[in-house]
Amino acid sequence: MGMKTGEEYLSSLADGRRVYHDGHLVTDASTEPGLRTTALTVAQYYDMQNIPELEDTVTYETPDGDRAHLSFIEPRSVDDLRRRAAAYGVWAEVTGGLMGRAPDYMNACMMALGNTGHIWGMNDERFARNAYETYLHCRRNDICMTHTFVNPMTDRFTPFAEQEKFVNAGIVDTNNDGVIVTGARMVGTLAPFCEENLSFGAPLGLEGNGDEIYALGFTCKVNHPSLKWMCRDKLDPERSHYDRPLTGRFEEMDALAIWEEALIPWENVFICKDIEPHNLSIPGMKFFQSLGHHVVVKNVAKTRFLFGLAHLMAESSQISQFVNVQDRLGDILMWLHTMESLAIAAVEGAELNPANGLYYANESAIQAALRLYPEVYPRIIDHIIQLGGGGYVSLPQEATLEMAELAIDRYYQGVSQEGKDKVALFRMAWDICGTGWGGRQELYERFFFGDTQRMKGLNYQFYDKDEAVKMVSRILQPPQGTERLPWPDWSVG
Ligand SMILES: Cc1cc2nc3c(=O)[nH]c(=O)nc-3n(C[C@H](O)[C@H](O)[C@H](O)COP(=O)(O)OP(=O)(O)OC[C@H]3O[C@@H](n4cnc5c(N)ncnc54)[C@H](O)[C@@H]3O)c2cc1C
Repeated sequence: MGMKTGEEYLSSLADGRRVYHDGHLVTDASTEPGLRTTALTVAQYYDMQNIPELEDTVTYETPDGDRAHLSFIEPRSVDDLRRRAAAYGVWAEVTGGLMGRAPDYMNACMMALGNTGHIWGMNDERFARNAYETYLHCRRNDICMTHTFVNPMTDRFTPFAEQEKFVNAGIVDTNNDGVIVTGARMVGTLAPFCEENLSFGAPLGLEGNGDEIYALGFTCKVNHPSLKWMCRDKLDPERSHYDRPLTGRFEEMDALAIWEEALIPWENVFICKDIEPHNLSIPGMKFFQSLGHHVVVKNVAKTRFLFGLAHLMAESSQISQFVNVQDRLGDILMWLHTMESLAIAAVEGAELNPANGLYYANESAIQAALRLYPEVYPRIIDHIIQLGGGGYVSLPQEATLEMAELAIDRYYQGVSQEGKDKVALFRMAWDICGTGWGGRQELYERFFFGDTQRMKGLNYQFYDKDEAVKMVSRILQPPQGTERLPWPDWSVG
């Protein structure tokens, strides 16, 4: 099939899926109030990859001889990673980085999954083949993927083997056709807009004490007959673009997936009751480097967008003249510089994985970016709240402006800005820091890649501390003869 167009994408959504919201079935996100304008945003992503002028920037020729978005590329050089980053950057620039789950995010994930056969196939070769075929299927058909990796929030303390069975998605049985799955996993962001779902419970280690049933990795269609999706509240009230300029474009929706006695054909399975590949899946996939590369590029754009917004707000009433306000703007700029630097380091410090001959984004750069942003983002939002003050609660709606035109220009004017434009700017800032959609953005940045506190703890636990420890031990040694400082061991390197 090759690369999709926006129209092809939109026409694929009415497929009998069981997506529930507020007591009704969302059968087609492209016509569903509160979701339909975001469906148009996803469609625009697919149209973008077909713009002839962008062909070399966002697509590549695959080994099949057709073209695909560069997010599908199997990077065999640093330059491949550079090109992939540039392709990510195009859509991130279009959206101001406000779309966490543009399809290119999961495209790269499916590539990484397909190229982790050394783990999936460690005890059964067919799972390696399945994963690679799944990747090819996604690339060749330009599949829009969602993913569900996390057990539902029932009990985070009791060991899995002792919990009520099949609340967490697990393998009830296997037969000649495939595995039978029952249970839930969260949270499929973009699920109502996607065609297929990738699921594995990889963030958590299993012990092999009866919890093997949760060692399960597979893909399935969003419209699988035994799969139900439970959506959170919609956040887009479908106000005018002027009133809610961001919400109506980027309501990605999140949903819990529940399978009940769902048959998953063998060809869609890559982990089955084997805790060894399950427990190795995160390091094996180089999960953080694979998905985090998209995140850091997206966050460069997002921080630039937030900086631009904050700067324009500060200019609009000349508070930018005050040193405390400049400090806030400079703080956002510092994070922009940081994200830009980490994005460069991610590529220029790329690492070759000898297990599959592919290049991955630099781990230190990605880990730093992933751990920093959940702390940085709320801080930037705090600056934006502080800059707007009571201005946020004096904002009229578009319809009101039309009614009271004369008063608006006078009472809502900026220093060199007409009232209508200033209100529009402030409404955009309010959309990001004061609306339900804005709150969900913050929750997303805090959590989507795991809870930061624990992720930092895990980083610490798994970090190779040798170099740091050796340095401290060496400098602890007293001077010997003429050597004030013992030399490092330059023979190892
Ligand atoms: C907006 C949004 C979108 C998301 N999209 C997706 C998606 O598309 N696909 C997907 O798979 N996931 C998605 N997620 C889920 C995300 O990966 C998880 O939220 C994240 O991994 C944290 O897990 P949790 O939500 O289960 O919280 P928990 O891990 O349960 O943490 C909740 C709180 O309890 C504490 N806690 C829990 N367990 C422990 C422990 N063992 N030790 C110490 N403290 C503990 C944490 O510190 C935290 O404060 C999304 C989340 C959000 C908020």
